[in-house]
Amino acid sequence: GRIAGAADIGGTNTRVGLIREDGKIVRIEKFPTPVSGNAEDIPLAIARALMDIAGDIPLAGLGIAAAGPLNIREGILDHPPNIPFDFVPIVAPLKEATNLPVIFQNDCRAAVLGEVCAGGARGYETVVYITISTGIGGGICTNGKVITGRGGNAGEIGHFPVDTTYNLTCTCGLSGHWEGYASGRGIPFFFREWCTAHDLPCIYSTTPEILRFSATDPRYAGFRDALAQVNGRGLSSVIVAYDPDCIILDGTVIQRNPDLLDQALVYTDRYLDLPPCIFSPLNGDAPLIGAAMAVFHPKMI
Ligand code: BGC
Repeated sequence: GRIAGAADIGGTNTRVGLIREDGKIVRIEKFPTPVSGNAEDIPLAIARALMDIAGDIPLAGLGIAAAGPLNIREGILDHPPNIPFDFVPIVAPLKEATNLPVIFQNDCRAAVLGEVCAGGARGYETVVYITISTGIGGGICTNGKVITGRGGNAGEIGHFPVDTTYNLTCTCGLSGHWEGYASGRGIPFFFREWCTAHDLPCIYSTTPEILRFSATDPRYAGFRDALAQVNGRGLSSVIVAYDPDCIILDGTVIQRNPDLLDQALVYTDRYLDLPPCIFSPLNGDAPLIGAAMAVFHPKMI
């Protein structure tokens, strides 16, 4: 069968892989996203790593996924919040370095494709993929077609407004956004504000710590509830916006704390029916696998 090269560009690490048409991973490798030199180092490092692991294996093309906001038309990352460059050229330098077709997408738009083609969403018509990790993002696929929007940025659900009490600032600079409260990056800020508002010492500082101890320390149970409300509002908005047949949940924050889902569902309103909410079975590789699926199924994007 055919094999595609894929990359998932993150603020900390970039993962590259060789993926078969059926979604199986042939090879995978991870390296720190090069951020100390020029923006061009990023596509060049990807090209080098992919050529390295591919060796003599012919590739059908390259699928590249990255956190937004993207400018798909120009094939660049446009002011990525986690990478210290204003613009990162992706498509042109990768094409030039490899002579292969390059398909570039948001990480969650890629991931929903991975789930529909080879993951937990096979057989469902309208699917929403949600990641709660460093950031919060979404990808929507309906009848075999990913919703991309005008510039490839449809489904930026992490920027749904969910709160007007704490007015936390999101990475995008605006306030009240889901990502600013409930993402891996947002939780410590939310926890600090919540502790101040409730006259409690802010004794935990990292997201894993906050989630671990707030689940057992009764003084902080109210924080879990506040987090559940925010997650419930986010999920409610997703459900009324897309009326999905299935929601796939992914990302380290929710995968490692699955009780966050049950708590959020208490606050998810029932204006529309709650669809099945499934954890991604793809081991954190949905964006990488989906990036490759876009090479094999160009009509789906
Ligand atoms: C970005 C999204 C991305 C999500 C998950 C958010 O900060 O705005 O584009 O999909 O993080 O990586």
